[in-house]
Amino acid sequence: MSVLVYIEHADGSVKKTSLEAVSYAKALSDKLSAGDVIAVALGSIASDELAKAGHAGASKVVHVNDDKLNAGIIQAHAEAVAQVYKQYGAQTLVLAKSSLGDAVAARLAIKLGAGLVSNVVDLPDTASGYKVKRSIYTGKAFAETVVNTEHKILAVKKNAVDLKTDGAAASVETLSLDIAADNFYAKILSTEKAEGDILLPEADIVVSGGRGMKGPENWGMIESLAKELGAATGCSKPVSDIGWRPHHEHVGQTGVKVAPTLYIAVGISGAIQHLAGVNSSKCIVVINKDAEAPFFKAADYGIVGDAFEVLPKLTEAVKAL
Ligand code: FAD
Repeated sequence: MSVLVYIEHADGSVKKTSLEAVSYAKALSDKLSAGDVIAVALGSIASDELAKAGHAGASKVVHVNDDKLNAGIIQAHAEAVAQVYKQYGAQTLVLAKSSLGDAVAARLAIKLGAGLVSNVVDLPDTASGYKVKRSIYTGKAFAETVVNTEHKILAVKKNAVDLKTDGAAASVETLSLDIAADNFYAKILSTEKAEGDILLPEADIVVSGGRGMKGPENWGMIESLAKELGAATGCSKPVSDIGWRPHHEHVGQTGVKVAPTLYIAVGISGAIQHLAGVNSSKCIVVINKDAEAPFFKAADYGIVGDAFEVLPKLTEAVKAL
């Protein structure tokens, strides 16, 4: 018996959310005596990146280093994970909730005949059945789902568990699988990546601007703070609708959902649709000149002040650290 964890990576860097999934799996295994925690990593990943899964709690890392798996084709990943799952006699699959994770998990639920719960925020309660708590309505409420199947898939919400970093080194096993990805329905023909950009959905720190920034000519202030912090930049919906910023920076219910360690909102009122995209952030800092702005209710720290005065001072202060 074992718990398998599907590891996602971006250009060979293991995603923090996947490491959180490993830490969740370790806690699950400790609680339910569910056996070894085995991380499965697909495609080209350097050994120091694979080692992170060990520190997060995996006792073994299975590395399927097949070029066909680099492009993140959903069917290929689902096929590879299913093969590893069966080979290692796993009973539970844990993964991070993400767009790729959701797509892979849904296919695996069919392949493995497993019950799937997504957006999981806590370890299962097994006092009566296998009850799993999950976040619903964009974090506004929780639901409990009882999983009755022998095989279970749990997709863990970002920032819902503490990341373990002090685990022992895991053994790494390289595995070859028969993956006929050429027959799958999608092929990645080429990829383009903007130089130096930090991907918004993955960013650990985000600095976001709203209509209070008055116009695109003032975005240099947002970018300067973001640069000093090593952050990605985001914006509210109207800002991208007007064309001040590109649409891929639009954060919220209808845009990108972020879950950084630190989210700094500048000149954003805090409408419910914006909050729906940021309420998984660990720490929210709001800068707004209106002390009654709704965003302050969701903030861990708030600065009531004019963004045009606060931002340069904050950037200088960060620079001086
Ligand atoms: P405003 O509401 O205009 O707020 C500007 C803020 O800046 C104010 O609080 C003001 O006090 C402050 N301000 C002004 N000047 C300064 C200054 N000098 N210094 C500091 N602060 C200042 N919105 C999203 O963001 N994401 C979504 O995904 C989204 N989806 C939506 C979906 C639907 C179906 C609908 C109906 C709406 C959606 N919206 C979304 C829009 C949302 O309702 C709000 O209208 C929007 O978030 C407001 O953007 P804002 O805060 O930038 O602008």
